[in-house]
Amino acid sequence: MPESASANIGVVGLAVMGSNLARNLASREGNTVAVFNRSPERTRTLVEEHPEAGFIAAESYDEFVASLAKPRTAIIMVQAGKGTDAVISELASRFEPGDIIVDGGNALFTDTIRREREVRETGINFVGAGISGGEEGALNGPSIMPGGSDESWITLGPILKSIAAVAEGEPCVTHVGHDGAGHFVKMIHNGIEYADMQLIAEAYDLIRRGTGKSPAEIAEVFAEWNRGELESYLIEITAEVLKQVDASTGEPLVDVILDEAGSKGTGVWTVQTALALGTPVSNIAEAVFARGLSSHPEQRAAAKGLAGPDEAERIPADQVDAFIEDVRLALYASKIVAYSQGFDAIRAGAAEYDWNIDLGAISKIWRGGCIIRAQFLNRIADAYDENPNLDLLLSAPYFAEAFTRAQAAWRRVVVRSVEAGIPAPAFSSSLAYYDGLRADRLPAALVQGQRDFFGAHTYKRIDKEGVFHTLWSGDHTEIETTPSSH
Ligand code: NAP
Repeated sequence: MPESASANIGVVGLAVMGSNLARNLASREGNTVAVFNRSPERTRTLVEEHPEAGFIAAESYDEFVASLAKPRTAIIMVQAGKGTDAVISELASRFEPGDIIVDGGNALFTDTIRREREVRETGINFVGAGISGGEEGALNGPSIMPGGSDESWITLGPILKSIAAVAEGEPCVTHVGHDGAGHFVKMIHNGIEYADMQLIAEAYDLIRRGTGKSPAEIAEVFAEWNRGELESYLIEITAEVLKQVDASTGEPLVDVILDEAGSKGTGVWTVQTALALGTPVSNIAEAVFARGLSSHPEQRAAAKGLAGPDEAERIPADQVDAFIEDVRLALYASKIVAYSQGFDAIRAGAAEYDWNIDLGAISKIWRGGCIIRAQFLNRIADAYDENPNLDLLLSAPYFAEAFTRAQAAWRRVVVRSVEAGIPAPAFSSSLAYYDGLRADRLPAALVQGQRDFFGAHTYKRIDKEGVFHTLWSGDHTEIETTPSSH
């Protein structure tokens, strides 16, 4: 039973994420941490295993709330969805105006907007905070993306800065924007993560099938890449996974893992949201679709035996190094596209929901603690430092130069994948997006003509102002009109 309201922060939900976050908080100077879990066994285990943390353990919501100093601040780390709503309701009925409820789970940002609106009516602050970095990040320093009010940030900011990862001397946390902005940015982070992983997987597949190198040999390639401009957590762990040998069969582990990729849904949320916002996150969408394709074994079985190219010849031995360098450049160029599309989606979300999001600050807080942490994010930060209102991230001078270096290799790799029948959807759709942006004229003009033909949807002209329609079912003359609502 807590003696007095002496904890400056509390954590509700002590499964893997919550208990690690509570330990992280307790290890930072100045924090006294109250802990509570619906099933008291988890609380007891945590407190017993970590006496050094000096936790104030509570076995009821009343005890938990009583142990918090004002303004009371509690971080919820429970199963996203109904669990979150249940805990919010328990806390909100006991908290007072000015207190702060933080949801650190993976909530859908529209749920966070709703919860913030409901909780704000009571005068209590509600903050949806995206937390990335998995269990290890929660314990040692995650990347944190909080939304919520300016008032809550005054209390919460120093606490979150104390536990966040540090990159280039700066804590990986920033006040992203109001209400659901933090969870929105976390969702896009996860979408980019999907794209990054798919691109790396395609690079692996192309090298494996193109050169016949073994997973262990390809692990060496990735380890080498990790010393250059591709340096990142995901490239690093890819080398580790490819090196791993299965204890029971002696085969490379990657060859005995079932090739059906799972997901928890944040990639789908990203694509659905981007579709609604009209912002093309084609790279992320391809990554989500590729996981979907992989996880339909019955359809893959039905497709067995369909015609494909003749067995593609392996890359000749004297060209293997050059091919691998091509794949590296194609991966880098595609990765720039994926991030550029992700930042575009953040910009579109900020415009739609009226959030003032500093894109440069987002690139900085992703440099450490999170799954997509990478050397490359420094280049994005530089681009936004130079021009905070950049219309298109991939057009920044540094990236433009990277495309100059990479584009011929990128095309060779996509051609090779098509000729050999090795699917590389994220590589090729990134290239198509890039070429679409570069085009002087797009066949969208023809699409407008078609739309006008069957639906009188009208079109604009390049040579004069106004909105026009051709009388397709009449004498094919053009009339000036008002835009159709069809
Ligand atoms: P989890 O498995 O998602 O959830 C288990 C926790 O939720 C337990 O403490 C459970 O309490 C509690 N809970 C469920 N329903 C509840 C309810 N109605 N009332 C009170 N408590 C309830 O735990 P996790 O993996 O540690 O993740 C916590 C949150 O962090 C989730 O939102 C997750 O999406 C997010 N997250 C996870 C990761 C990761 O790598 N795992 C990374 C980033 C974010 P009982 O013990 O009583 O069942």
